[in-house]
Amino acid sequence: MKFNVNTPEETMNYGEQLADYLSPKDVILLDGDLGAGKTTFTKGIAKGLGIKRNIKSPTFTIIREYQNGRLPLYHMDAYRLDDGSGDELGLEEYFNGDGVNVVEWSNFIEESLPKDYLKIIFKRDDSKGNNYRTIEFDPKGTHFNKIIEESYGKN
Ligand code: ADP
Ligand code: MG
Repeated sequence: MKFNVNTPEETMNYGEQLADYLSPKDVILLDGDLGAGKTTFTKGIAKGLGIKRNIKSPTFTIIREYQNGRLPLYHMDAYRLDDGSGDELGLEEYFNGDGVNVVEWSNFIEESLPKDYLKIIFKRDDSKGNNYRTIEFDPKGTHFNKIIEESYGKN
């Protein structure tokens, strides 16, 4: 499933729409170049979970935890994990824990991905405008296929 968006707000809305259907242990992978909209989408998820704190890019901290919403949100940036495993972070524990896991740059932790996940690919195409983006949903496993159908089936 793939959508075109023309503003940051639209990208956020897609994230917000997803949030209602998320449950503990869900793993959401956000891939795409710098500035493609990964963190903007995460802000939408956070809003949908009722998290009031401002979501900041976890680039330097690697993981940011938000505990005051319907579910905890674990927002990770794998860009600096160059051994491909994510062991140093205790990723396994997060993925089997009590919250929703959102991972930017998941290509850096390919070896540690769970069996099922929701991958979302963000792309820009400046020939169609500075704010033009595509958001493509690539769910793995029945759980995430169902979630995508429920969240966006009517879009
Ligand atoms: P990433 O996390 O992928 O590096 P960010 O979400 O941090 O990207 O940044 C996206 C930037 O692009 C923000 O400055 C945002 O305002 C801008 N932007 C412009 N149009 C869009 C859009 N349609 N969707 C998302 N972000 C957009
Ligand atoms: Mg980011």
